[in-house]
Amino acid sequence: MKTTEHYLYTDITGNKVSIRSYEFGNGEPMLYLQGGIHGGEVTYFIFQKLYEYIKSIENLLTFKVLMLPMVNPISWQQRVYYYPVGKFSLQSGQDFNRHYSEKEYEEGNVAKKLANLLRNLSEDYKIAFDFHTARCSKPYLYVEDRSLISLANLIGLNLNLFDFEINPTEFSGYYVNKMRQNSNSTKAFTIECGTHDDYSEQNITEVTKSIIRLLNKLLEVGEKIFECNFENESITFCLPQKWIYSAITGFAKFYKQPNELCSIP
Ligand SMILES: [Zn+2]
Repeated sequence: MKTTEHYLYTDITGNKVSIRSYEFGNGEPMLYLQGGIHGGEVTYFIFQKLYEYIKSIENLLTFKVLMLPMVNPISWQQRVYYYPVGKFSLQSGQDFNRHYSEKEYEEGNVAKKLANLLRNLSEDYKIAFDFHTARCSKPYLYVEDRSLISLANLIGLNLNLFDFEINPTEFSGYYVNKMRQNSNSTKAFTIECGTHDDYSEQNITEVTKSIIRLLNKLLEVGEKIFECNFENESITFCLPQKWIYSAITGFAKFYKQPNELCSIP
C-alpha cells in the first residue's frame, strides 16, 4: 500500500494543506473511491472498513485501487458553532461538487483546483465512486447513464436514475457528470451512503458490502465485468425524477419514509 500526500494550498497561518490517497495493488488502475467533498457528510467509517478489507487481500489484487477518504479539507473546516456546514465554497458560493467544469484551473480558486486534482487522479481508473450522504435517506446509488445499469445492479444498492438532461445547468460541473463527458473509460457513480450526521452501522455495512461485492467480482472476472449482464429484480428504481418547486417558502411535510416504495404518476 502506498500513501501519497497531494498538496492543495497554503492556509493563512502558513500551514500546507494536502489530501491523502491510499493506493493498493499493481497493474492497471481499476477502482477509485473518494469521499468527504462535502463537510459533515460522514462516510469515513465506510472507508475505514474498506481500508482493512482491501489491505487484507492486497496480494490478490491484479489491478490498482485508489482511495481518498477525505478529499476536501476546506469544507470540513467550515463550521458554525460545532457543526460542519461545508457544502459550498465560501470563495465562489458554489457547491463544491459543481467545480469540475471545463475551465481547468482559475488562479486563486481553490475549489476548482481541488476538483481538477481529483479529476486528474481518477480519470485513468475504470470505475469511480464519489461517496456522499443525503438529507434523510437509506443508502442508494445514482446511475447517470442507462448503459451502467447492469454494473449498478451488481453493486446491489437501491438505484436512482439521475437524468442530467432534466436540469443541465444545475448539475454542470458535477463530478460524475464531468467524468462521463471527459472520458469513455471511467464509469463513475455517486453513492448516497445514508442520512447526514448519522452513524448507522447498518448503512455503513450495506455500502461497504456493496463495494466488496464489486471488488470480488473484479477479482473473479477482471475487465470482463463490463461485458456481463447483471440483473436484480429486487432493485428499487426511481424513474423519472420529478422536480417540484413551491411558489413561496414554507415547510414541507414528507408522506413517505426513506426506503418506502411509492409510485410516481
Ligand atoms: Zn454531498
